[in-house]
Amino acid sequence: MKIQVSLVDRFCDTRPMMAILVFAPVYALIAHLTILPAEVAVPVSGSAVSPAVLVDVNKKGTGWTQIDTGYFDIYYEDGVDLGSVERHLRKRIYLFGPSAPGDMNIEGKIGYRLNALFVRTKDILDMHPQMPKLKIKIYKSEDGLNNEYHQLSGDSGAVKAFYVRDLETLFTSEDTISDSVLSHEIAHTIIDHYFAIVPSTKVAEVLASYVDMHISD
Ligand SMILES: [Zn+2]
Repeated sequence: MKIQVSLVDRFCDTRPMMAILVFAPVYALIAHLTILPAEVAVPVSGSAVSPAVLVDVNKKGTGWTQIDTGYFDIYYEDGVDLGSVERHLRKRIYLFGPSAPGDMNIEGKIGYRLNALFVRTKDILDMHPQMPKLKIKIYKSEDGLNNEYHQLSGDSGAVKAFYVRDLETLFTSEDTISDSVLSHEIAHTIIDHYFAIVPSTKVAEVLASYVDMHISD
């Protein structure tokens, strides 16, 4: 099976948000800079309502545990602190509306947030393609993430997250996951499935950056 790492992005999550995007198809590395607008509080739109979250933790003991959110199958490595992951996904607290209901369990809160990211990103792009359920692998350590990246791409760089289209999988880690990083990568998955001919890396990056700029509108 041909493995193609379509994009690898690095973000700086400090505020005001400045994201440094480095995307690396297997054969090329292009770096550029994107400045995101300051955050503004926005009400939750009706379209951002997430579907019910189904949690399946039956795969414990394999080294990875699964959370089924409806849109995503999330696999997190043994030792991952789900509370930390959930907090990382709420770094931009005014983004995509409020977080999940307080009485939801931690797996549900993570799924709720990621589903909201997915719906919001599709709305911004005005792209609603038929898509398979995506996988998100969350490594405990950045070393684990980078080792996976090295194996799949042959590149030795350090990453915060990357997307492999052939595997329909987003890869990230407990410390590098964030709502900004994931919405950007999710945008790439939507863009890739929307067009009959997958757009070039540069065009896809422009569209994904459009999401970065308008996610708080
Ligand atoms: Zn990108």
